[in-house]
Amino acid sequence: MIATEAVNTMTTSTGKVRLVCQICGRCSSPRPSTRMWDMPGGWTVAPFPERHTHRDGSTGDLYYCAGHSHGGAIGHHIREYLDTPLNASR
Ligand SMILES: [Zn+2]
Repeated sequence: MIATEAVNTMTTSTGKVRLVCQICGRCSSPRPSTRMWDMPGGWTVAPFPERHTHRDGSTGDLYYCAGHSHGGAIGHHIREYLDTPLNASR
């Protein structure tokens, strides 16, 4: 499952939450919360204030999947899975 918009989490119909990778848009399996102890294996979080708005319009903490949490982001654009890369000018 891949996110189709710039979001960091998605809430399921049952009130659980999926984390969305900042790089590839991959969604984690549903979990009770976004807290550290509910983090999927290998995922990492870059903490931001809840009301912080990022350039792509998303807010709050940023999440990275196991494939992108340990330097894997080098060479990748943030949200490159979306049609219009937000930092394509780099
Ligand atoms: Zn990823």
